[in-house]
Amino acid sequence: MRPIRPGDRGPAVREIRRVLADLDLLVPADGRTADAFDPPTERAVRAFQQSRGLSVDGRVGAETWRALDAARWRLGARTLYHAVPEPITGEDVRSLQERLLEMGYDVGRADAIYGARTARALAQFQREVGLTPDGSCGPHTLDALRRLGRKVVGGRPQWLRESDAIRQSGPTLVGRTVVIDPGHGGTDPGVVVQDGPLRWNEADLMHDLASRLEGRLAAAGVRVQLTRGPSPQRYLPDTDRAELANSLGADVFISLHLDEHRNPDAEGVATYHYGTDNGVTSATGERLAGLVQREIVARTGLRDCRTHAKAWDLLRLTRMPAVRVEVGYLTSPGDRRRLVDPRFRDRVVEAIVAAVQRMYFPIERDVPTGSIDVSELRAVVAAGRAPQS
Ligand SMILES: [Zn+2]
Repeated sequence: MRPIRPGDRGPAVREIRRVLADLDLLVPADGRTADAFDPPTERAVRAFQQSRGLSVDGRVGAETWRALDAARWRLGARTLYHAVPEPITGEDVRSLQERLLEMGYDVGRADAIYGARTARALAQFQREVGLTPDGSCGPHTLDALRRLGRKVVGGRPQWLRESDAIRQSGPTLVGRTVVIDPGHGGTDPGVVVQDGPLRWNEADLMHDLASRLEGRLAAAGVRVQLTRGPSPQRYLPDTDRAELANSLGADVFISLHLDEHRNPDAEGVATYHYGTDNGVTSATGERLAGLVQREIVARTGLRDCRTHAKAWDLLRLTRMPAVRVEVGYLTSPGDRRRLVDPRFRDRVVEAIVAAVQRMYFPIERDVPTGSIDVSELRAVVAAGRAPQS
């Protein structure tokens, strides 16, 4: 859909304004301006995008529209239950999940989708407080949550669970499933730069990087799946890429992109993981992002543009540690000269393999950045022990 932007008028703008007013981000307007995308509306959209971890551009494209639609629901306004096949989604679901998480119930990630895991966690809560454990959240259950919810504060059990699960699974990579997502493709080349007679594009470079990574991980015994081929028939939206990783039961999801900027001086690598401004984050996603970022910086010398939390669909909907790496700016002559060199891309691949390996080391046995010899990994892993630094 074409984004709805400042200056637009009409029923869609009226609806956007109504939701923003409900969220106390915008003063409700009188009849004359109620359907106008005016400067206060743009400020409110930006504030909303910031609070949801979306890209802040002051326009309402598909992603912001979905987030606004989900934000209309306040906990208690409707009964929540596990609907099949089309699950209930919304801000009320996220509030419920965050409350259950605070109390130590395992809902997985607070992703605003009322799935089987949320229903199970709620049923467990219901059983423990003496309610019928039907896994649906109506007035009685809400009442119990309100009475008990405030006693339990602070803990972040989801973080501990995720880290525990990983630690218990041991340091080996053999048999794990990694989904690699080369960004863009099909009708969408991503960033395109004309460099004299040469024309580089993000989609092709990232597919090449993904194939190299696939080879190295497969050699270490990892099951690897790419989200797309070198020239897919159609463009694959991020929601489909996340769905593919979920359906494969992937252990790790790595999305590969390049960045661009008007200013050719903008350069460097950045890594993104799931998180929102409310402090909700994926602990293992954050850890993986930190490892990927540090290994790439240490092994390539690309400028360190650090790690960042985002609530992009790709990171929010994937149910495993997921990162999106922007491996440099194709618009930077310095970054570009390196990125188009296959030997440089191999160094990036080694950095990512080392980061994935380190994620499975117990934290107390972790090794210094840049110290894993990736070429020896296979033998070491086959021998059933973690490499020593
Ligand atoms: Zn991209």
